[in-house]
Amino acid sequence: MLPRDQPCRSPRRFAGRFRTCKLRRISVRKQLVRAARLAYPCDVEEIFGFDTRALDRARASRDARFDGKFFIAVLSTKIYCRPVCKVRDAKRSNIRYYPTAAAAAEAGFRPCLRCRPEAAPGTPAWLGTLGVVRRGLRLIEEGILDGRSVDEMAERLGIGARHLHRLFVHHLGASPIAVAQTRRLHFAKRLLDETRLPITSIAMAAGFGSIRRFNDVFRKTYRRPPREVRKLRAAEAREAGRDEVVLRLSYRPPYDWTHLRHFLAARAIPRIEVADNEGYDRTVATPGGGWAIVQVRKIEAEHALEFRLSCADAAALLHLSSVARRGFDLASDPATIGLAFDHDPVLAPRVRRRPGLRIPGVWDPFECAVRAIVGQQVSFAAGLTLVGRLVERAGQPIATPIKELTHLFPTPAALTTANLAGLGLTGGRIDAIRKLAGAVVAGTLDFSATADEVVRQLTSIRGIGPWTAQYVALRALGEPDAFPSADLVLRKVTSGNGGTLSASALEKRSEAWRPWRAYAVIHLWTAALDGRSENKNKPIKRNIPERDAERGAPRPSGMVLLRG
Ligand SMILES: [Zn+2]
Repeated sequence: MLPRDQPCRSPRRFAGRFRTCKLRRISVRKQLVRAARLAYPCDVEEIFGFDTRALDRARASRDARFDGKFFIAVLSTKIYCRPVCKVRDAKRSNIRYYPTAAAAAEAGFRPCLRCRPEAAPGTPAWLGTLGVVRRGLRLIEEGILDGRSVDEMAERLGIGARHLHRLFVHHLGASPIAVAQTRRLHFAKRLLDETRLPITSIAMAAGFGSIRRFNDVFRKTYRRPPREVRKLRAAEAREAGRDEVVLRLSYRPPYDWTHLRHFLAARAIPRIEVADNEGYDRTVATPGGGWAIVQVRKIEAEHALEFRLSCADAAALLHLSSVARRGFDLASDPATIGLAFDHDPVLAPRVRRRPGLRIPGVWDPFECAVRAIVGQQVSFAAGLTLVGRLVERAGQPIATPIKELTHLFPTPAALTTANLAGLGLTGGRIDAIRKLAGAVVAGTLDFSATADEVVRQLTSIRGIGPWTAQYVALRALGEPDAFPSADLVLRKVTSGNGGTLSASALEKRSEAWRPWRAYAVIHLWTAALDGRSENKNKPIKRNIPERDAERGAPRPSGMVLLRG
């Protein structure tokens, strides 16, 4: 369905032309083009604030920074492309712009087999201000429509199903069902291209109930069966082990991988995480009781991160890829966020200095909350040691091919019953961990609810304050506006005069950074660190946080941060 609310350019002109043209004299192809023009006369007037003339310029530039922000559909070929596609150029009169791949697909266009628009970066950031649509997209991305209905999804968002449908169609040009379908299909296409999984497993992994249904939908979209598409890519197929799946997930450049890797390395929990100069590896539990090893590297030439998933059940792949997208902040658009901070005296110079900062995610919200509780009021290094002991005591031991990775992070069920005495944790902290785990098991704490709701549920638990709750929203829920206003480092950096702002003054100051306050936090934390390292003239530690903002406790100077 087309975005009916958006004004047509001049439907009457097209209709008039169509009536007067002499159909007998023009070729069948031209007739088809004209018919298509009539069927899809609406052009999106504005995408992320660009009018069609600006979009034309962006299209002509083929700048990778526009990748994922809009899609170019060509009426004569019925195919849509990414702005970076090398196959074009079509006549301007045949071109239509769409804000999302789903909207182009919904309007009847097929994805280009060369530039693979299904691999383009995710949600356009111009949706940032549209809270409901953004949260809805996140829920779909996390797979809510794989098991539940649109009604249930709408209820989760606190609105009616019809209103949700209207909002989606208005802002994205596609219904929630169509967005979910596109996501399943794109994921299946990616598995076809990048793995050697059997086609039946791919159908199941992508959430199609049957191989027949998968074949039907696939044929309709790509005009050929899955088997043939795989043959097309066979020459490029990558070397992969039997149970190893390699996914390449793209991002919009710049991407400060060094900062992110150092951030994660400094916080790596022994036995479940390990980071070195190349990348970051960890163990993860998968839905249904399985587990997997995730190994992340940057592929410089492709503006993508490579996720090597081993030991994973095929049914868990879609889930793993969704969490990976959130955890490594791949949908973020640094250009838009940078623009929002452009006139801010505190942030502008810092953003210019490090334009590619991302929010370093924690794989699992429960893990993030436990880590934050354990780290309360102890030094950074002591916090890591304590979490390591907790993992050894209550985490499930697993046999992996990587010798440093030997456990899974403890489950909520395990932590409700585990004996946590003698690890060095105070009684109050053990109690808070038990209450947190109990709330997850009982369902009174639901990490898939909206960020506001999760913060409310977390702070109702004794021993969890607003700082910890906002920290979880920032690092584990992917909430771009999360803001721990009690944070000591933030209050110092923002004061600008060597003093310390009060939490409420900082909260007020942060209004100017909405809806990207989480990015402001990462920039300010990093700036505080950069400043410290420069004063001490220790360039090797430039990117590594020396104190956890939560506690402001200094890191012991001799601590080894990186493996190898
Ligand atoms: Zn293309």
